[in-house]
Amino acid sequence: MAEKFQFIPTELGQLRSQYDVVIIGSGGAGLTAAVQAHELGLSPVILEKMDKIGGNTNRASSGMNAAETTVQLKHHIVDSYGDFYDETLKGGGGLNNQELLKFFTEHSALAIDWLAEHHIQLDDLTITGGMSVMRTHRPSSMAPIGGFLVTELLKQVAAAEIPLFTGVKVDELVMTDNQITSVKATTANGKVTIKAGAVLLATGGFGANPALLSKYRDDLAGYQTTNQPGATGDGILLAEAIGAKAVDMDQVQVHPTVQQDTDHTYLIGEAVRGEGAILVDQNGQRFVNELDTRKNVTAAIDQLGGTGAYLIFDRGIRDRVKAVEFYDYIGLVKTGNSVAELAELTGLDAANLTATVATWNQAVAQQQDDQFERTTGMDRAVTTGPFYSIHIAPAVHYTMGGVAINTATQVLNQQEQPINGLFAAGEVVGGLHGNNRIGGNSIAETIIFGRQAGQQMFKYLQV
Ligand code: ADP
Repeated sequence: MAEKFQFIPTELGQLRSQYDVVIIGSGGAGLTAAVQAHELGLSPVILEKMDKIGGNTNRASSGMNAAETTVQLKHHIVDSYGDFYDETLKGGGGLNNQELLKFFTEHSALAIDWLAEHHIQLDDLTITGGMSVMRTHRPSSMAPIGGFLVTELLKQVAAAEIPLFTGVKVDELVMTDNQITSVKATTANGKVTIKAGAVLLATGGFGANPALLSKYRDDLAGYQTTNQPGATGDGILLAEAIGAKAVDMDQVQVHPTVQQDTDHTYLIGEAVRGEGAILVDQNGQRFVNELDTRKNVTAAIDQLGGTGAYLIFDRGIRDRVKAVEFYDYIGLVKTGNSVAELAELTGLDAANLTATVATWNQAVAQQQDDQFERTTGMDRAVTTGPFYSIHIAPAVHYTMGGVAINTATQVLNQQEQPINGLFAAGEVVGGLHGNNRIGGNSIAETIIFGRQAGQQMFKYLQV
């Protein structure tokens, strides 16, 4: 068996006072940008405030959306940038920044190729809510995408000897003569100033910052979050302090299927439904098209009056989503040898659940869901025991708002002019997703715009 790869962060004593590029944040966007910038000949540094590398990217489960890929063709799926664009726009309530969306969709296949060139193969496909075809790329092991990508990108960072420091928190961006010239940071050895030709905000969102959330969305008080504790919106606040514009700050995504009966929250990825799971209420009955957009599925669960709902699936579906092994290992999954036994263990009416599953299986057989008009995630029925349930409820998951950028990832000021030397990519950016992010689009955003940021910082530093 191959030895398990372990990344060792750079010793703090090696932190220099100057780099070509300072990258703030070690999630998908920061790591991708660092590798891309390095390949173009720049010397980047990655600064991460937490001890743990990888941010919320670590927690992403479903996959990476992309259209017109060779992987899709190998699966006999003929897709188009246009459909990817239209469906993302529809899912985002038409509020998406259309220039960013166009760039995003049209560079998605290139990003899959770029990953493949770096031995990061996403050659299996699944589907997420709001998409009409399988365009969510994931590893053939069907492992959750986030941990896989962070590990694989860190292999590239290690091979390129790009310095990555943990426990270094950037607290100020410094402008001199109308351009960003350095950052100030706090480390275990005190405060430091690091000069940089360009700075990338790859700091993620603010789903773990209750004060900032309630400033924009006081209705979300009391919701739990799926985010890691470092997702506090620092990048947005740092950029605003030097005049950057923030957009869509009130657009916060609540994820519909989060297990929260323990002292931790566990997001149960959309792939479980994408591969065939249904959702039932306390009465053991379906109540929604499970693969409607996150916004609509959340609203339907909230309407149940605070009880949450139950994902119901079988062995065949479980075999398609490796993350379920983990959910089961930590005790989130109930298992029954028959649907009736599962119902009893879950606290649902056995006759109702049995009837619900039978009706659903018929809908799958006929490829027609008369009850809720679900049209995707119907490749397999719920027929092969054992049968499983997971209790879920909505939780704060993703912040669609953030700093305004142009398609060159340059951060814009209040007058929508680029701030010289300041770039942003990933969840810290606002606008791409409109009022609802589609599953599989956040990982895609980090890779597509992370690459773009690496390239544009190079270009900026050439002149
Ligand atoms: P994305 O998906 O956009 O790449 P992630 O949430 O995966 O975003 O990663 C963002 C990372 O940035 C997290 O690991 C977070 O801890 C880190 N971060 C946030 N604010 C700061 C800061 N002020 N200084 C250094 N790192 C930060």
